[in-house]
Formats: sequence, structure tokens, C-alpha cells
Amino acid sequence: MSRDKRVYRFGTDGRGGDATEGSAEMRYILGGKGANLAEMARIGLPVPPGFTITCQTCVEYAQAGDVWPEGALEEVAAAERDLEQRYGKRLGDAADPLLVSVRSGAPFSMPGMMDTVLNLGLNDESVRGLIAQTDNPRFAWDSYRRFIQMFSDVVLGVDADLFENALTARRLLAGVRTDAELSAEDLEALVGEFKAIFSDHVSAKDHPELVVDGAVAFPADPALQLRLAIQAVFGSWMNERAILYRQRNGIPDDLGTAVNVQVMVFGNKGDTSATGVAFTRNPADGTREFYGDFLVNAQGEDVVAGIRNTEPISDLASKPGLESAGAELERYFSVLENHYRDMCDIEFTIEQGSLWMLQTRVGKRTAGAALRIAIDMVGEGLITREEAVSRIDPAQLDQLLHPQFDTAARPDVIARGLNASPGAAVGAIVFSSDDAVERAQRGEPVILVRWETNPDDLKGMVAAEGILTSHGGKTSHAAVIARGMGTPCVCGVEAFRIDAAAKEVRIAGSDLVLHEGDVISIDGATGVVAAGAVPLVSAELTGDLGTILGWADDIRLAPDAGRPAHVRVNADNPEDARLALEFGAEAIGLCRTEHMFLGERKSIIQTFILSDDDTERAGALDELLRVQTEDFASMMRTMDGRPMVIRLIDPPLHEFLDSPRELDVAIARLEAAGGDPERVRALRDRLRRIDAMSEANPMLGLRGVRLSVIFGDLPLMQVRAIAEAAARLIAEGLDPRPEIMVPLVAITEEHVQMRELIERVLREVGAERGVALDIPVGTMVELPRACLVAGSIAAHADFFCFGTNDLTQTTFGFSRDDAEAKFIPAYLHRKILAANPFETVDDAVLELVRTAVDKARAVNPGMHFGVCGEHGGDPASIVRFLNEAGVDYVSCSPYRVPQARLAAAHAVLARTRG
Ligand code: PEP
Ligand code: MG
Repeated sequence: MSRDKRVYRFGTDGRGGDATEGSAEMRYILGGKGANLAEMARIGLPVPPGFTITCQTCVEYAQAGDVWPEGALEEVAAAERDLEQRYGKRLGDAADPLLVSVRSGAPFSMPGMMDTVLNLGLNDESVRGLIAQTDNPRFAWDSYRRFIQMFSDVVLGVDADLFENALTARRLLAGVRTDAELSAEDLEALVGEFKAIFSDHVSAKDHPELVVDGAVAFPADPALQLRLAIQAVFGSWMNERAILYRQRNGIPDDLGTAVNVQVMVFGNKGDTSATGVAFTRNPADGTREFYGDFLVNAQGEDVVAGIRNTEPISDLASKPGLESAGAELERYFSVLENHYRDMCDIEFTIEQGSLWMLQTRVGKRTAGAALRIAIDMVGEGLITREEAVSRIDPAQLDQLLHPQFDTAARPDVIARGLNASPGAAVGAIVFSSDDAVERAQRGEPVILVRWETNPDDLKGMVAAEGILTSHGGKTSHAAVIARGMGTPCVCGVEAFRIDAAAKEVRIAGSDLVLHEGDVISIDGATGVVAAGAVPLVSAELTGDLGTILGWADDIRLAPDAGRPAHVRVNADNPEDARLALEFGAEAIGLCRTEHMFLGERKSIIQTFILSDDDTERAGALDELLRVQTEDFASMMRTMDGRPMVIRLIDPPLHEFLDSPRELDVAIARLEAAGGDPERVRALRDRLRRIDAMSEANPMLGLRGVRLSVIFGDLPLMQVRAIAEAAARLIAEGLDPRPEIMVPLVAITEEHVQMRELIERVLREVGAERGVALDIPVGTMVELPRACLVAGSIAAHADFFCFGTNDLTQTTFGFSRDDAEAKFIPAYLHRKILAANPFETVDDAVLELVRTAVDKARAVNPGMHFGVCGEHGGDPASIVRFLNEAGVDYVSCSPYRVPQARLAAAHAVLARTRG
């Protein structure tokens, strides 16, 4: 029976050649570290020899309940013997011992999450050999005590403090302050003490293999040491922090980690030895310079631990005794960059003047550095523009467009919520929109803290630096509006127990109570809420971003791109439209007209809805017509010559009315205070009307096109306003391009009747103004039924735009306002869902979109298709909509336009590269 190879060799074959079996392409088999070690050895860089046990072995070991797969142990033993032969030394040898490191290495970098054991192979015999070889007893005993300490902690879970306490006691006894001052004799004594700690704290019952002469002893047999260390690394794949890290970073649990067993080299063998980490370019700003640190006479973990002050890598080649290794390293920087065609991150050790490469990988970098490096590499002829564009992660662009917490800061985190709108903000807590406005007017930055927001909160949201809600998900009112405004927002912070009346909030799980005026900081990119003012670093729109986005536009709009990938914006006011044009939006994909009825205009629409008096209602409607005409005219002016999709009124009407709960309280208060009975009666009457309009399921109620069918005057007014505005601009010689969209259509006839009404008004206004108004009428497709009857609707529609927020809500039957706070996190945790469907489009929702596009195109080949739900700004969803569902454009909030342009280019690149 053929079985997959479990162990791959790398490095010297012991006869002047190379025994390497793997390569950089094998990261899913050898892990990132193992694959890159193999690659470096293959291209002739000095890599200490070793072997890599595959990720699949780890997976099988874990699946079998921590049992080695058949034959695997034998393969490892053979690889160990082979390594001894290749390197010419034996593990445990009393004269000249081989020592190895045992390190994890998953397919994706998981820094510090899994386990490592160094100096493996030391025992009471081999420590003598190490002394003989190095003529340095202090170094040998120090290595041995470090090994026992690390092995005990990592492999057997012995409390690390026990060893630290013994070290402290030994320092006191020796009368020294630092470990470095301990003598060889001190360290030899510590080895004895450490072994005793080991024997006292490891259970014989759990580890019978460690029992010698009836008692637990530190394992002397290097083969046993190695097996236990490999098992510990396998086990660390499933430790709590590794699981959490994978969850946060979307790394699948079933990949497993490889284990790299590699000959140890020592950077702590005197002044011609050193160890360090380096980047081939500056990972913070992308400058082409050597970047990193080294330490003379030290081991790798000393650099990372920050115990000693490191020296800059640029000084290495001028350091006495290290000149030649330093110059060699600089040469390898270019070798690696040319080979990987990217900025590399390197770990190295110099052992008595000889340079050894211990790790390399494509280096992580900030968003700004990513842009700089990609552009420079195009200039250097190393990569193409297409490669440069494909290397920038669209999600990273958020970093450049919004302020962030300073990475040097240590925020005092008091709660976490959903990362609803990126950017960080600091301000005094306020619990009402009025307070937000009042304090903001006094120049005080504020964070608006609400149970959830409603359209009435707009003024407070505009005034606030940031928004926090204790309820609601990423498509809740607060989230959608905040993203639209580019205001940082954390929503669904369930630990916030808000008492808006008392102007205080209790933080569940702690004694903390915050009051109005207390300063907090929020990070809308991570969902973190911190006490006090966390220092922020502000964003810059650099020229590099413009360059990369320009290249992205060339790719996504190229004539040979197949179907060009357009990017529009969701904007409801001229400011957002202007901002979006600066960010590179080509058109408006969604103008939510109901947002134009807020602020001072709310009372006008309230009069229209609640009044019994026809004249009063007609007056309100006239007033709405006047203000909407002005709104549309000013937006069309901003968007001159560009399409602008205007959606007829959509949300349930009661969103414009006072909250019945608050009104009830106000009436009770008025009565208790002996208020004017006439006024009480009027308020009661108002409350009755509002109650009469309330619905059990408003999201499934009188909204969207249904509203226009029942309150026919509203769409008549809106269409007239659009037509009047367009006619006015045409008369001025401008080129307005409104398109009218009917929301929440489920039944073809809804669309047909609405279209008749729209066209009648357009004809009327056209005739009155003496202009031809050729305004397309389309459907907002956001219900599964509409997708299934798309062919029939398409016969009457000029375009479709998919409202994937509602489509997700109605496909799943998940409330978009509640699900993300209530159960989606649990679903993600239990892997019932792989991703939040309100954030990244779900397969079934995508299938509905694709079905609708196919059916509609078959009937009406001239139609165009867009997506304007929140998914239209999500990079992963954008690629799928454009490539799998065949839509022509995505539309998103202004601040997400840059990343949408980049993601759209990625879609076209994925398509054209097959
Ligand atoms: C949608 O449902 O996806 C949409 C864009 O409309 P709204 O969010 O206004 O319901
Ligand atoms: Mg909708």
C-alpha cells in the first residue's frame, strides 16, 4: 500500500551536495517555515540541515487521539539517523554531540502561538562533549539548564515559575544580579535543581515512559526527548491560544502544523557569534533599506524577548569579527528578494563567524509599506503592475483611510463589540443625540453611546467622533449610517448596560460604572472599547495609494477585461457624493431617499402621515416636494454626467414617528405634573395613531414598494421631485442621469404598476417643462421570490440592483438588526456558519443573485446589474459577485470605494488569469 511521505530532508547531504527534498510550493505539506527552509537550501543559502515532518502527520496524530500514524515513528527515526550521518555528529554523543531544535511551522504564520524546544539532545553525557568541543563549560551548562527548563514547561507543562524561582534563589546565593553573571558551577548546580523540580512535578502515572528505578527522571535518551518534543508541537496545534488565533484570522483547523527538526547553531559562542532578525526592506514605511536588529553573543529568543538592547542590522557588516558574515547576509537579502520577488523577513544566526539562515518568509508590512514596496518593485522591474495590484490586500486599505490606535499604546480594554465601521475615536460619553450636539458645539469630542440608534439620532451621530451601541449588528441602523459617514462605530457591545435616563453605563462582569463625560476610546476596525483616551495615529491619503488605485482602475476597466468591473457609491447627500468622487466612485449606485426626510424635515413627514386634515397633508406633501427637488438637484449637479440610482421610499413609516414608549412616558410625566389637559389629550391622540401604525414584524411589513402602493402620494411626489430636478438641470445645459429604483419588489405586478405611475409622472413633467425625460426604471431585487421570478420582472425593468442586506435577511430568515449580536457569534464559534452572512455573501444568497441575473439577461439582454447591499463593499464578496454572478457593478459607502476598486481589479485579474 502506498503511503504519503511523512518526512522531508533539507540541507547538506554530507558529501558536499544538497539533500533537500521540499520546496517553497509545498507549504501545505511542510508548513511555511519548512517549505522556505527547503527553498533556501535549494538555492544554495547556508541552512543548518534537518528534516520536516508533514502537517498531515500532525492532523492524523490529532484525529487518532494523539496516536502516531502507522510507520511514522519509524520514518522519523530513520530521518534522525540520516541527519546524524549527513552532519557527522550523533545525538547524545559524549565526545561531539549533535543538538537539534524542534519547531512548529503551520501553512500560515501563527507567530508565537505554538511550541518550540531548543538544545534538544543534551544529557549528562553530551554536556561533557559540548564542553570538550567548545572549551566553554559555562555555555554548555547554560544550554543544558535552558533545555531542561524549556522541555519541562513546553513538553510536560511544569510551572515555569518554579524554574524562575530557582534561578532567582541561585542569583541571590551567588550574590549576582543577572543570569549572565552566573558561573559554570552555578549553572551546573541549577541543572541538578531543575532535574529535581522535574521529578517532583511530573506524574509517574501519566508518564510511565519517564520512570527510571521507580521514580520519574528527566529523560536522558535523545530519541525519547525527540519523540516527546514532536508530540508536544503536534499538541500545540490544538492549544487554546492557537485555536483562538486561527478563528480570528480565518485559518482552518484541519491544516495541522509541520514540525521542523534542525541542527542547532549557536549565536552565543562569543564575540564572533550573533543572532538577529531582519527585513529586506523597511516593513513600516516600505523604504528600500536593511531593517532589523542583531545581538552579539546571544540566542534567538534574547532578541525577541527584548532583555538586551539590540543593534541595528545596518551596523552588522562593520562589527569586528562579523564583517564577512554581515556582508554575506546583505548579499542574501538581494538573492532572496530576487528569488521571492517580494520583501522577505529573515532570521539568522552567526556561529563563530559562519552565517546560517534559520528562516525566511514573505514579510508582513503595514498598508503604507505594502503600497511603497509594490510600486518600487514595479520600478525596479521585479514585478508587473498587475502583480503589484494583486499583492495589496483591499481590507488593509482601511488602515490608510481612518485613524488608528497607536500600536505603541496599551489600551485598557473594558468591552468588545462588533467592528461595525472602521477607524478609532476618542471622546466623552454622551447618552443622547442632543447632548452629543451640545458638547460637540462646545468643541468637546464625544462618543455617542446608545442602546441602538434610530433615524432621529442622525444629528447626534453627525456630531459624534464615534458611535457605540449595545444592540444591533453590522447592518443595523448605527452601522450602516456610521459606515456611510466614515464615522468609527462599534455596535452590539452587550456588556454595556446603559441607563440613558441616569446617564450612566454599567459594564457587565466588572464593577466599572461610566458616567456622562467620562472619556472612552473605540476602535471600529476591531470592536475594542477602552477606558480613557488611547493615543491615535492619523491617516494619510498618500500618492502611493492613488498610484495603485490608478493601476487597479486600468485593470478593471480595460477593454479586454471581459465585462468591465464598475464601482459605484451609496450616497444620500452631496457631501458624500463629492467625497466618493474623490475616492474614485464612477456613479451613485444607491441613494436612499428616506434619509432626506430626517432632521428638521421630520415634522413635515409626520404631519403627512398623522394628520386627518387633507389640506394640511397636501401642504406637507408640497413642502416635501420642494425640499426633495432641491436635494436631487444638488446631488445631480455634483454627479453631472454620471448615473445616479434613486430609490423610492423604503423603510416602515413608523421609523419617522416618535417612539410610542417615549411618548407614553412623556404623557405620564405631563399628567403627573398636572399639565394642560388639552395638551395631554392631543398627545394621547397622537399616540393612538402611532400605535395604530405599529406592526409586529416591521421588517416584513408595510415598507418598500408596498408603501408606495398604499400611500400613492409619496412616490408621486418623489418621482416629480426627481423629474423637476432633472428638467431644471437640463435647462441649465447640464447632463443629469437619474435612474429610478423600486425597492423590495416581490411580485411582478408591483413593479409593473409602479412603473406605469413613474412613467406617467415623467411624461407629465416632461410635457410641462418641454424636455424629454429619458429616465431608466429598475428594480431593487432583495427578496428570494423576486430572484425566482426575475425573468418576468426583467421584461419591465431597465436594471436590477441587488439589496443583499434584505436578501440575506429573507433568505436565512435572520433579522439583520439582531442576529449578529444574538447568535451569529455562537454559530461562527460552533462552525455552523463559516462566515457572517451579513458581511460576506453566503453561497445560497449568491446563487439567488446568479439565478436572477441569468434569468433576467435571457429575457432582457440590455439590462445592467449591480449590488448595493453592504456586501458591495466587502472584498471577498465583490470578487464573487463580479465573477460568479456576472453583475456589472458594486456599490458601497464612500470610505469603502477605494477597497472596492482594488477588489474589482482583483476580480478581473482572477478572471483573466483563469
Ligand atoms: C439592502 O437591503 O441590501 C439595501 C441596500 O437596502 P437597505 O439596507 O436600505 O434596506
Ligand atoms: Mg433593503
